[in-house]
Amino acid sequence: MSHIIHRSLRSTPAVAARAQGAYIFDAQGKQYLDACGGAAVSCLGHAHPDVLAAMHRQIDQLAYAHTSFFTSDTVEQLAEQLTRTAPGDLNYAYFVSGGSEAVETALKLARQYFVELGQPSRTKFIARKQSYHGNTLGALAVGGNEWRRRQFAPLLIDVIRVSACNEYRDRRADETQQQYTTRLLNELEHAILEAGPETIIGFCAETVVGATTGATPPTPGYLKGVRNLCDKYGILYIADEVMCGMGRTGTLHAFEQDDVVPDLVTIAKGLGGGYQPIGAVLASEKIVSALQTGSGLFQHGHTYICHATAASAALAVQQVIERDNLLQAVRQQGDYLHNALREVLGELPHVGDTRGRGLFAGVELVRDKGNKTPFDPALKLHAAIKANCMSRGLMVYPMGGTIDGQYGDHILIAPPFIITPAQLDFVVDTLNTVIREET
Ligand code: PLP
Repeated sequence: MSHIIHRSLRSTPAVAARAQGAYIFDAQGKQYLDACGGAAVSCLGHAHPDVLAAMHRQIDQLAYAHTSFFTSDTVEQLAEQLTRTAPGDLNYAYFVSGGSEAVETALKLARQYFVELGQPSRTKFIARKQSYHGNTLGALAVGGNEWRRRQFAPLLIDVIRVSACNEYRDRRADETQQQYTTRLLNELEHAILEAGPETIIGFCAETVVGATTGATPPTPGYLKGVRNLCDKYGILYIADEVMCGMGRTGTLHAFEQDDVVPDLVTIAKGLGGGYQPIGAVLASEKIVSALQTGSGLFQHGHTYICHATAASAALAVQQVIERDNLLQAVRQQGDYLHNALREVLGELPHVGDTRGRGLFAGVELVRDKGNKTPFDPALKLHAAIKANCMSRGLMVYPMGGTIDGQYGDHILIAPPFIITPAQLDFVVDTLNTVIREET
């Protein structure tokens, strides 16, 4: 009997015994191709020798030192690596232990920025429907996944909610892509004006939506329009790249493909590739200098910020990505994957859409392809697909749709950057069989 509060309280998951490269092996020795990196975490695959060596070296020297006493060379080097490779003036990093902590940190940093500027009337955030920003109360408040929020809603701060950018679901048949984008930006501007720009701290959005709708990229020009509106009304633009960032989409940061630079960026999963729990906020010069010249202190902090062992893992992961030119591999293998998904799965009667960027792909399942009606969520199609894939030795990340039909069941694919075309063929062929069997 397990004494852990597992995700399901009615079953205990299989035991992972070891892992190597793109594969995880269970206690019986069965191998699973990890084509989702858990939840888009394992960007280098498992047991990468350079990362293990870096962590061993670090633990031998210094596993941890509390930040009220010390910094460490490793965490300073990681900050240097991340700010050197980030565009614009994202010149500072704040290290935490995961994605939700990164989002909480960004929200508080944004609030304190305006307090330091003498604008304490700014108390509101704008965020989108069909989004996920984490499970802690602040992050859950900005998130727009109603199923995750429902029972905790009375505990959450109010957030102004605007539409997601989900072309497959929400672009009307009589609209061009550009008209749809303009409609979304008009809605955002209206929301800003209605609340009063002087009351708003920031706009928070995933660049490519991950967990809620499955690798849903913005339309061309959408984020540029968001950046312009934020500048026009003096609002901060917070990009949540916890899932889609750190190379997953083929550029180090997904927003680089939209030609924008946010004021604050949250990163996590692929930062440490699962070797250690680590997340971070990248902050622009203006934010940090407001605090430097103001109170001189960010009123925040956790026991494990700037953890030396976690930083050593993340530094090694990022150095391997840079040294081995893995962003190019992501773009190349990503093209291969998207073509295969389109060609093989696109023909299936219940695959409504395949989408994504780089090695971040989503497959949306629908009961009726013509009118995009989702499957009844009570069927728990995503759970059946997951179980069937696992029985065939494949890990993908299926998720359920909503009762109100805002989006349907979908499958998220996020393999390691070292994935081969033969392994991608296995992913697509297995999904082809499983989707046919389950729909
Ligand atoms: N933000 C986004 C976009 C995410 O996808 C997630 C996790 O899936 C989080 C935040 C929360 O990260 P964590 O689970 O590490 O707390």
